[in-house]
Amino acid sequence: MAKRICAIGNADCVYRFGGDEFVVVALGLSPRHEERFARLLIQAVTRPIHINGFAVEVGASVGYDRWEQGREPLEDAAHRADLAMYEAKSRGPNQHMAFEASMQDKVAKRATLESKLRIAIQKKAIRPFYQPLVDLKSGTVCGFEALARWTDEEGVAIPPPVFIGIAEETGMITELFEDLLAQACQDALAWDDHVMLSFNVSPVQMEDKLLASRIFKVLSANGLPPRRLEIEITENALIQDPAVAAIILDELHDAGVQIALDDFGTGYSSLAQLARYRFDKIKIDKSFIATCRDDERQEKIIRAMLGLGRSLNILTTAEGIEEHRQLGHLLQLGCDVGQGYLFGKAMPAEETRSFIFNRDEVLAGG
Ligand code: C2E
Ligand code: MG
Ligand code: MG
Repeated sequence: MAKRICAIGNADCVYRFGGDEFVVVALGLSPRHEERFARLLIQAVTRPIHINGFAVEVGASVGYDRWEQGREPLEDAAHRADLAMYEAKSRGPNQHMAFEASMQDKVAKRATLESKLRIAIQKKAIRPFYQPLVDLKSGTVCGFEALARWTDEEGVAIPPPVFIGIAEETGMITELFEDLLAQACQDALAWDDHVMLSFNVSPVQMEDKLLASRIFKVLSANGLPPRRLEIEITENALIQDPAVAAIILDELHDAGVQIALDDFGTGYSSLAQLARYRFDKIKIDKSFIATCRDDERQEKIIRAMLGLGRSLNILTTAEGIEEHRQLGHLLQLGCDVGQGYLFGKAMPAEETRSFIFNRDEVLAGG
C-alpha cells in the first residue's frame, strides 16, 4: 500500500499514521487538482493484489484539507483531514471528501451527547415505553414491545436510533440493555400471563457470547419466565458472526424464549441464510405496510412474506399499521399480529394495564 501511495505524483511525504491509516502531504498541489488526487489514491489502493493465486481487494476512504504551512502545525490539518475521512467512510466504501466546518460541529455535538448518555444511563433516566401488539383475529392485546425513551434534562426527546447507535459504538449498550430489560420484566409481571414482552436486541449484542446468560440472569432476578419473553433481532444481526448468532439463538430458544425477526425485508440476508435459524415470528417492516394498498408490487411482496411465514409455520406481525384500511387489508391477507399507531403508540408502563382493560371492554361490547 505504501509503495502504491508513494508512486502517485506529488505525494512528497507519506506516513503510516497507525493501524490502516496513512497521511499523505501533497506539497504544491493546486486546489483544482485536490479531488482528482483523492480519486487517484483510492484507485491505487483498491486495485486487487494477487497473493498465491488469490485476488485480494481492500477499500479506501479519503478525507482532505489544505495545510496552512508555516501558520499551523501539520497535526491541525491532519486532524481536519481525519474528520473528513470519517465522514467519507460513513457514506460507504471508496468515497472521498473535503473537510467542511460542519464536520467539526458534528463531532463536538456527538461528544456532548455521548457524555450526556453516559450520565443518563448511570442515573437510569432512560425508560422503556410499551407499544401494544394486537392479535388480529381476536382483537386482543397479545404483547407489548418495549421501546427505549430518553428525554434529556432540557426536556428534549432524543430519538432511539440516535442514542442506541451511540450506546452500540461505545459499548454502553450492554449496561443499558440490562437496565431496560430488568425494568421491563418487572412491568410485564403486571400483565396477564399470556401477554408477551418483546424486547429489541442490537446487532452488536449478537457478537456477545454471554448474551443468553445475561438475559437468563435478568429474567430470573426479576421473576419473569423465559416463555414470556420474545427478543427481536434484525437480519443484520445475523451477518457479523453467523456462528455465534446461531449459538445464542439456540440457547435462548431451548430455554423457551421466542425469537422474532424484526424489520423483515429491509436487510441484506438471503433466505438461505435465514433458513439456518429457528424463528418463531417475522415482523414485516413498516415500509411495506405504508404503501401496500396503493402499490400492487408491494402487496405481492407482503403476500409472499405471509406465505413464507405460513409454510414455515411461524407467526407474522405487520408493523406500522396506521389506518383502518391497512388493517382490513392485512386481516384479509391472513396476517396474525398487528402493531402501529392505529392501535396505540408506545406508552409508559402505568398506562398498559388500563390499555389492555379498555381494549377488552370495547371488544366485549361488540
Ligand atoms: P423497531 O424495533 O422496528 O421498532 C418500531 C419502531 O416503529 C418504533 O420506533 C415505533 O415507535 C415505530 N412505530 C410503531 N408503529 C408505528 C406506526 O404506525 N407508524 C410509524 N411511522 N412508526 C411506528 P422507535 O421507538 O423510534 O424505535 C426505533 C428503533 O430503535 C426500533 O425499531 C429499534 O430498532 C430501536 N430501539 C428502540 N428501543 C430499543 C431498545 O431498547 N434496544 C435496542 N437494541 N433497540 C431499540
Ligand atoms: Mg422491534
Ligand atoms: Mg421494526
